[in-house]
Amino acid sequence: MEFDLIHRYFKTPFGELAQANPDSVLLGIGDDCATLRILPNHHLFTSTDTLVEGVQFFSDDPSSVIGWKALASNLSDLAASGASPLGFTLNLSLPKIDENWLAGFSAGLLDIATRFNCPLVGGDTTSAGSNPLKTLSITVFGQAPASHLGFNRAHAKIGEEVWLSGTPGLARLGLLLEYQRRGRLEQLCKGHELPQVQALLAAMPAQLRQIAVSQLGMPVPRIELGLQLRGLASACLDLSDGLSGDLAHISNSSGVSAVLFQSSLESMWRNCWPEIDQHADAAQLLKTLLMQTWRGGDDFELCWTAHPKHHSAIQSLGDDLTCVGVIETGREIWVQSPSAGRTRVASLSYNHFAEVPN
Ligand code: ADP
Ligand code: MG
Repeated sequence: MEFDLIHRYFKTPFGELAQANPDSVLLGIGDDCATLRILPNHHLFTSTDTLVEGVQFFSDDPSSVIGWKALASNLSDLAASGASPLGFTLNLSLPKIDENWLAGFSAGLLDIATRFNCPLVGGDTTSAGSNPLKTLSITVFGQAPASHLGFNRAHAKIGEEVWLSGTPGLARLGLLLEYQRRGRLEQLCKGHELPQVQALLAAMPAQLRQIAVSQLGMPVPRIELGLQLRGLASACLDLSDGLSGDLAHISNSSGVSAVLFQSSLESMWRNCWPEIDQHADAAQLLKTLLMQTWRGGDDFELCWTAHPKHHSAIQSLGDDLTCVGVIETGREIWVQSPSAGRTRVASLSYNHFAEVPN
C-alpha cells in the first residue's frame, strides 16, 4: 500500500526529472540512500523546512499550492545562499490516504521541481497515527563553487547598502485577505490596527489582491538572483518572517545597524500600486503597507547588503530590486523619514510559538 502510493505519486511522476539529471542523480527513489554527485571543486548546501497543517497552511488550501510552497520555501534558502539546486527529499506524515489530496500535492510539487530543475530523490512516508493533521518536511540540496562560501549573515559592513527584491509584505497582504475571506481577520490584527487593515484591504485594486494571494501561495524563489549576486552581495537572507526580524538577524550577526529610508520603501510599494496616490488617505494606506513589510511573512524575497560600488551592477539585474537603506554603526534597525527623522523599529516578526492560529 505504502509502496504503491510512493510509486504512484512520487517515483513515477518525478522519474523523468531525475533521469534528465544523470550527472547529478546517480541513484534516486527506491533504494536505501539516494546518491548525488556534485561538481568538482563545489560545496554542498543543504536546508530543511517543515509545514504543519493549520499552522503553515490551511486545511482547505488546494494541495497543489501546498506542494508548490513546500519546495519554494526550501529553494528560497538555496537562493539566499547563492547555491543552485541539486535535488530534494520529502517526508510526509499523513493521518489517512487521501488520493485527491496526494494527486494535487504531487502535481504542484512537480510543477516547481521541474521549473527549477530540482529532482525528488527520496523521502519517507508515514502514518500520523491519531494526529489528525498532515505534516510535511522537505530537505533540499544545492551546490556552489568552493570559491563562493555563501552569503554569511555576519558579513554586512558599515557603509554598505541594503537591498530588497520584489515587495516584501505582499505575502502578508495575501494572508490578511485569506483570513478576511474566512471571517477571521481579528485573529491577525489587534486593536487599532484592525480598522486600518480593513481600510487597506478595501482600497486594494483587484489585480493587486490577486498578486498578493499568489505571493502567499505560490511564491517564486529567487534562485537566479541568488546566483547573480555571487561576488556582489556580502550578507544575504530570504525573508520568511518579516523584514524587521530578518534584518535583525543581519544586524545582530554582523554587529551593525540598518537604516532604512521610508521614501524608498514607499516607492517600492508604489511600483506595484501606482494608483495609491489617488486615494485621499494615501499617506495612511502607505503607513499600513509599511507595517506589513516590517511584520511580513512568507515572501521568500531576498534582502542583502552590498558595497555601494556594486550599486549599478545590482540595479541592472532587475526592475524590482530596490536599494532601501544603508548599514551604519550600532545594533538597531531604524527607519528614516524627512518629516519624523529616525525611528527605531522593534521586531514585529512572526513568532512560531506566539502567533499560532487556531
Ligand atoms: P527505507 O525504510 O528502506 O528507508 P522506505 O520504505 O521508507 O525505505 O522508502 C522506500 C523508497 O521510497 C526509498 O528510496 C525512499 O527514499 C522513497 N520514499 C519514501 N517516501 C517517499 C516520498 N514521500 N517521496 C519520495 N520518495 C519517497
Ligand atoms: Mg523508511
